[in-house]
Amino acid sequence: MLITLEEARHEPFRWDEVAELDLEELEIPELASLGSIACAGTVSAAQDGYLVRARLEYSQGLVCTRCLEASSSEECCDFELLVLVEEQAEEAPFDFELEAELAEQDLDTMTIVGETLDTLPLIREQIQLGVPMKPLCSSECRGLCPECGINLNQGDCKCVAPVDPRWSGLAALKAQLGSEDASES
Ligand SMILES: [Zn+2]
Ligand SMILES: [Zn+2]
Repeated sequence: MLITLEEARHEPFRWDEVAELDLEELEIPELASLGSIACAGTVSAAQDGYLVRARLEYSQGLVCTRCLEASSSEECCDFELLVLVEEQAEEAPFDFELEAELAEQDLDTMTIVGETLDTLPLIREQIQLGVPMKPLCSSECRGLCPECGINLNQGDCKCVAPVDPRWSGLAALKAQLGSEDASES
């Protein structure tokens, strides 16, 4: 949605929106699905621009980097962002100075040209930030068998597991007992 910043000049503008993002446009391979994004917050005039304070709620499906299964979760993120308004795009040198100053305040900033704030790029950025570098379906995920590719969370395969050194003595004993024993197990 487009917010006319003029409306936020004297009193905070209430931002309520349900946004849809195109999954392909996001280009995040780990993101398998994305539901509607409920945005609620305010846009208020600040010293150097406009302060956006909002919460996004949405469901997303992430592909586990170990087992490659997608699992969905409900996400909720709060964020603050300072929107700097530039009259014309040419004022870059001045803007660099401003950004350096603002970086010290530890606030995320975004510079826009003109008095209209498009919320989509802003939402897109938060969604991207919400995707971990290496998503896992669970910290205990056993991943895929490197031999046959079966998902080990769903069951064991018949591939030979690496031998635990503590059992190597037993394995040697088994080998001595002959192949008949092994084929029955
Ligand atoms: Zn997994
Ligand atoms: Zn296997």
